[in-house]
Order: sequence, then structure tokens, then C-alpha cells
Amino acid sequence: SFRAAERLGRINPSPSTAAAARVRELKSAGRRILDLTVGEPDFDTPDHVKQAAIAAIQAGETKYTPVNGTPRLREAIRGSLRRTHGIEYSDAELTVGGGGKQVIFLALMATIDAGDEVLIPAPYWVSYPDMVRANEGTPVIVETREAAGYKVTAGELDASITDRTTWLILNSPGNPSGAIYTEAELASLADVLRRHPRVSVLSDEIYSEISFTGAPAPSLAAVAPDLRHRVLVVSGVSKSYAMTGWRLGYAAGDPALIGAINTLQSQTSSCPSSISQAAAAAALEGPQDFIAETVPVYRERRDAAVAGLSRIEGLTPLAPDGAFYLYVDCAGMIGRTTPDGRVLQGDQDVTLYLLDSVGVAVIQGSAYGQSPFFRISFATDLDTITSAVSAIGDAVAALR
Ligand code: PLP
Repeated sequence: SFRAAERLGRINPSPSTAAAARVRELKSAGRRILDLTVGEPDFDTPDHVKQAAIAAIQAGETKYTPVNGTPRLREAIRGSLRRTHGIEYSDAELTVGGGGKQVIFLALMATIDAGDEVLIPAPYWVSYPDMVRANEGTPVIVETREAAGYKVTAGELDASITDRTTWLILNSPGNPSGAIYTEAELASLADVLRRHPRVSVLSDEIYSEISFTGAPAPSLAAVAPDLRHRVLVVSGVSKSYAMTGWRLGYAAGDPALIGAINTLQSQTSSCPSSISQAAAAAALEGPQDFIAETVPVYRERRDAAVAGLSRIEGLTPLAPDGAFYLYVDCAGMIGRTTPDGRVLQGDQDVTLYLLDSVGVAVIQGSAYGQSPFFRISFATDLDTITSAVSAIGDAVAALR
């Protein structure tokens, strides 16, 4: 009979996958659900990207590629990093994988020994702690404060580092907060990191171009060039180019670390899909109008959601600078009573109440390590967003 490895007992299935399953179940039972849980763009992959994939199939680019990607894709990644950050990476400093997610997992697997600590500022992307645990590391959650825009400060970083700390995970723009670290904030973190040479930084920049500040989110690798070999920049095409299903991510960093990731990849997947690589190359090297067109759409939805939620008593939405999520402080709902007599004890109860009472699906803040909050995604049409916000207002108004 099936006997799970000890490793499996240390991790949980992704809460966003669980939420998606619940929404599917309710929908198939005939309920109308306004789904604000999705973590992927609602836009279609740009046509020139699809055409590049079709052309690759027809040209016979259907075989294994080098472990670190096709030369064309590496060149396209190099161009993209030059464009967004002004950094020049050599071939030995670049690798690709089946999504940013796989690249992050392999980077942790390549570097963490049992008991090594990984600093994860909260609120965090749900997968980081589980990926660390799966690799026998110890996730160390660093609480952040509203006054600091839910970003880790130099002082908090300094106080969290021990002689077991191997990584700090920085995610900017952040999921779920949408917070972007400014160049000044990154520079002050760099000052701390210079005093702790053992600590590397995994800079998850998957949302870097979905930015409402007028420029891509700055990268620690560019702000502190002297630390460049201690910063692993991870990104991918999933979010910026609406390519979640193509599964293509990449990393840039120290050649020794990149080599270790390549070794692991050579023994797991060999390489990501050759067709997805051709598509990703087209996305990164081709016209960038898709980003220029979609970011204002996200911004309009963000503004509508923030305006609507701010008018609801008991909710404080945190206006994001990037990505497509809103992290909503729901402290004002906790302790209140639903029409059927249940007291809302925490954000898990809030999430269930919104789903049951008004059919709005969101994800509870406890999944992201900071409560009481819930996350809504605005990677969905404006109508769904405004209907959902008004339904949330009804649900809150019905509380006693
Ligand atoms: N990092 C963050 C913060 C994310 O939210 C996601 C996707 O949800 C990823 C990485 C991984 O994206 P992918 O594996 O599709 O490249």
C-alpha cells in the first residue's frame, strides 16, 4: 500500500489550488460564483507568441534542448534583463525551467541543508515555506508592518539573521501585497547583507513588469551590483505575457549556483518544453505592446476595487503598486456575527462566509502568513470585480 515519504508530511497542497477546486465544485452544483481567487492573467497569450510556437513545431524544434535552454531563449532573456534592469548576464549565469516555480524549487534544493534557515517576509507567496520544508530547510517568517507597507526593513532583516541563515526571499512586486521595494529600500537591505556574507537573496521578480509606478520594479541585483553574485533573480513569462500554461521560467545569478541548478534539472526534467522555449523567446524579444496594453487595464481594475472596498466599513484594502492582487485587512469583520448566528473568528471564517452568503471566492490571509486579511485577484474582468465588491459590501452590512 502507499506509504508517503517523510518529506511529504512536511508540506501542504497549495491553498490556491484548493480554493480553485472549491469554486469548480460550487459552480458545477449550479451556483453563480464571482471568482476572485485566480492567480493568472485573464488575457489570452499574444498572437505572435502562439505563432512562434506553431512555427517551432513545424520547423521540427521538437527535441531535447540544452539543459539551460536554447541559445535563442538565453539571448532573449539576456535582452529582457538588460532592458528592465540594465544588467548584462553571461550564458553561464542564466538558466531556464518549467516555470519560475520549478526554478525556485531547484535553487532551494541545490543550496539548503537540513536546518538551514530561509527568511520569508510575511505576507508571502504560499509556496515558499513549503518549498523550503520540502528541502529540509527551516522557513523563518519575518513579520512586516503596515507602516512599512508590509515590506521587510533593514532592522527587521538584521534582527532575523542567524548563523544558519542561507537565503532571504524577496518578492517584489509581492504576491499577495503588491508591494514594490523602492531603490532606497533595497539599498538599505543591501547594507545589512554586506555585513552578512553567508546570506544570499532569492529575488522573485515574476511580476516585475506589472507595475503601476511607471517603471518595472527595481531589482536588488541592479541597486547593489557588488552583491550581484549573491542575488538569484528569478522570473518568467507566465504573468507578464499571460503564458501560465506554457510553463517557462528562468533565473540569473552566480555561475556556480546556476551550474548546480542545471545539474538537478538534468536529472529531473532535462529541459523545459522546446516549444514553450520558442514561444517565450518570441515574447521576450518581440514587441512589448502586450505589457503596455495590459498594465493600464490592471490599474483601472485595481482603482475600482480599492475605491469600492474602501467604502465598506471594517475593510482596509492595501493599494498595490504592482502585480494583480489586493490584500484586504478585514480586522473589522472579526468578532461580528453572521445572519445565521456564527461568530467570525478569523479570516478563514470570513472567506467561507463570503463564499456561502454572497458567492464571492477569495483566499484567506492565513494562507499568506498574515491575518486577518483576504486576498482578491483582479486578473478578471471589471464587471466581475465591481459585482464582487458590491456583494462583499452586502455581506458585511448583514453582520451584527
Ligand atoms: N512567484 C510568485 C510570487 C508567484 O505568484 C508565482 C505564481 O503564482 C510564481 C512565482 C510562479 O510562476 P510560474 O511558475 O508560473 O512561473
